[in-house]
Amino acid sequence: MSKVLKFGGTSVGSAENMKKVAEVIQHERARITVLSAMSGTTDALVKIVASAEKGDQATIEELLAMLSEKYTHCIEGVLVSHRAAAEARWAEATALIRREASNFHEYTSERAIIAQGELVTSAIFTYYLQELGLKAVYLVSPEFMITDAEGKVDTVRLEKELSQRVLDPDTYYVAQGFICTNARGELDNLGRGGSDYSAALMGAAIHATEVQIWTDIDGMHNNDPRFVEHTYPIRHMSFDEAAELAYFGAKILHPATIQPCKDQGIAVLLKNTMDPKAPGTTISNLEDDTRSFHAVAAKDGITVIRIHSTRMLMAYGFLRKVFEVFEQYRTPIDMITTSEVAVSLTIDSDKHLQEIVTELEKLGTIEIERNNSIVCVVGRMEHGDAGLAAKVFKSLSAIPIKMISYGASHRNLALLVGTEDKKRTLQSLNDGLF
Ligand code: ASP
Ligand code: MG
Repeated sequence: MSKVLKFGGTSVGSAENMKKVAEVIQHERARITVLSAMSGTTDALVKIVASAEKGDQATIEELLAMLSEKYTHCIEGVLVSHRAAAEARWAEATALIRREASNFHEYTSERAIIAQGELVTSAIFTYYLQELGLKAVYLVSPEFMITDAEGKVDTVRLEKELSQRVLDPDTYYVAQGFICTNARGELDNLGRGGSDYSAALMGAAIHATEVQIWTDIDGMHNNDPRFVEHTYPIRHMSFDEAAELAYFGAKILHPATIQPCKDQGIAVLLKNTMDPKAPGTTISNLEDDTRSFHAVAAKDGITVIRIHSTRMLMAYGFLRKVFEVFEQYRTPIDMITTSEVAVSLTIDSDKHLQEIVTELEKLGTIEIERNNSIVCVVGRMEHGDAGLAAKVFKSLSAIPIKMISYGASHRNLALLVGTEDKKRTLQSLNDGLF
């Protein structure tokens, strides 16, 4: 049994919580422990970057003072013999942040500043394990998480590098999530929330039996607990369902986490650091065979693009031309519906909207609508089953639905609603389906 355990920002966000993490990794016999930065750190570092761009020295110092208090407090709470070394490590990080902020290079300074949270948090935790008398080794993730020009991690290299580092079964190896080295050899990261993905890749690289994602909630819930009352944790889920839910808004898991684990059949467990005995959610290849609904999630910030064109009528090749525009601007499409004279698509990034619209106008009349949410219902919905879709729509009889996507897989039914109706939609589905 070799396990990779990843802990989020809240789990390592205080001395008290770090102590809980140390208990968990001993109980689980973690092979590699992957850590996020202490909660609030990355947000603060992102603000420091923004202030550095504006030359706003006062805000930078304010944020550094806040972080220093947090880190010093944590160090004092967990360390005695290594306290001075950890404080020196934090001082080194703040010196680097100040240096990069005052001599700011857009891309490299930003990435170097943002990496400090994970680097210092994992250093403090490694010292703490050593003070507990455990064998603990600090791994430097950017030495083995190397991305190519497309931002994809070199998994062959990762496997080779880890096989040379992770050797002793009695040692706790502590690594940083989120951070990596890019194709130009600079410190970089995998994008916000990327620590889960780091853990999945490391798990796949060492052929782990399990990847555990520890947060502060008891597993993946059947609906979004921030908006809906009476949600409950789901005990088992398939990889495909978890991928849909993570992509469509379930904040507990980064959507990229699923693929590397699914490829190798590594179970993913979602667990709660604040209640380690709670069963959490297990995501695996096991299919659930009761035909029903399992969960609902929602993703905001969705823009609809409607293309109306009589040139589409009985023509072929029209959709290819549409898709090529999105490909050219590297913008993923989430939902699509078609009629004989119109296509509606949704995107979650407005970055190239203007260019996309200009291109699409060559194909037809374009309409744009912002501020929508995709609500995604997952479960087991065989196409031969009568009544399942009807049950969804019956629950939503009072809600204006703008788009519907059903039939692409047996697993998912997606709806587009205005974001102002999202909460109502989630609650109605909760009342009607569960
Ligand atoms: N610390 C990073 C963030 O806040 C990465 C992570 O926690 O997954 O986005
Ligand atoms: Mg996260």
